Amino acid sequence: MKYVIGNWKSNQNLTESLVWIDGIHALKPKFSPDVSVILCLPFTDIAGFNHKLSDLNLPIITGAQNVSHLPPGKHTGEITANMLSELINYCIVGHSERRRDFGETSEMVAEKAKSLLENAITPIVCLDLPYLDEQIKELFQKNIDVSRCFFVYEPLAAIGTGRPLTPTEINHTTNQIGFLIDNSAPILYGGSVTADNVKSFVDQGRIDGVLVGTDSLEPTLFAGIINSLS
Ligand code: PEP
Repeated sequence: MKYVIGNWKSNQNLTESLVWIDGIHALKPKFSPDVSVILCLPFTDIAGFNHKLSDLNLPIITGAQNVSHLPPGKHTGEITANMLSELINYCIVGHSERRRDFGETSEMVAEKAKSLLENAITPIVCLDLPYLDEQIKELFQKNIDVSRCFFVYEPLAAIGTGRPLTPTEINHTTNQIGFLIDNSAPILYGGSVTADNVKSFVDQGRIDGVLVGTDSLEPTLFAGIINSLS
């Protein structure tokens, strides 16, 4: 199985997200049983988006982009894994933007992953070289079953820059991640993935799919990525 995961970040309100679905529906990308398409949305879009996906019978699975590291309780404004469990199957944790802008630590990321797994949601754990070892060690320290997670190598220099790493450079690190987790889970790459370059990454031995930021926002570009892999 190969995976295409979109990450909308803080873009698109509910109305705009429903227009996006109309766009994808009209483009009729080639959804293949060998390619799983997952879209990680803002919290505010998820319920309405799911509704429309099922009305149109579109094979897109939804995810979130963050979750509280705290359990349910007195934490005003926090969205817990329990709240998300009725809405999504996947959730990104530890994106470099959250580490940079919100002070997320490897320990918090591990707490998030634990809480997601307790609620039957697959954590999509983002990694970059400066904290790759530390993050994986923290998951093991919290007794997290890494075989139930997804991992994404997201080199900072490639995110949103239009300058992806080469497949050989990526493979070096995805092999390293594979070694640390005993090759027990999918390992993806994220950073300036487009319809033109996606195949060069996914054809490599240790890359099971891609995480796409910028090009997931435009139906034409995202459909192009799905078509390139199908
Ligand atoms: C990301 O931020 O997760 C990402 C992969 O972004 P982009 O595709 O824009 O590089």
